[in-house]
Amino acid sequence: MFSKQVGQRLQEVVELAQEEVRRGRQGSLMTMDLDAMEEVATAVGDEFARSLLRALLGRQAEEAEGCSRTCPVCRSPLEEKPRQTQPLKTRRGRLAWKQPVRYCPTCRRDFFPSSGGPGV
Ligand SMILES: [Zn+2]
Repeated sequence: MFSKQVGQRLQEVVELAQEEVRRGRQGSLMTMDLDAMEEVATAVGDEFARSLLRALLGRQAEEAEGCSRTCPVCRSPLEEKPRQTQPLKTRRGRLAWKQPVRYCPTCRRDFFPSSGGPGV
């Protein structure tokens, strides 16, 4: 799924995480059972997934902001509003996401460029 470069970087992260686990257990994994290892691995994987989701959403929002300067309903220029925090529930846990918001003074509605539609 990933390029060789990403695979190599992931291996570096695995080695760093492994060392951190070992340090937390005074340098030895001898008393750590598979369940405990799986718990740590799952927590690291979930954190990685949330970080990647945050990055992908950020990139998507940047792309959407670049092409959404006019209202999708009436074509009036949109005004920029402060980003809104939107709690997202993902399969890897909750994630706070600050999504961009635009306002159309003609329609008197908010729009969320990254979701492609009008808001509340
Ligand atoms: Zn409008």
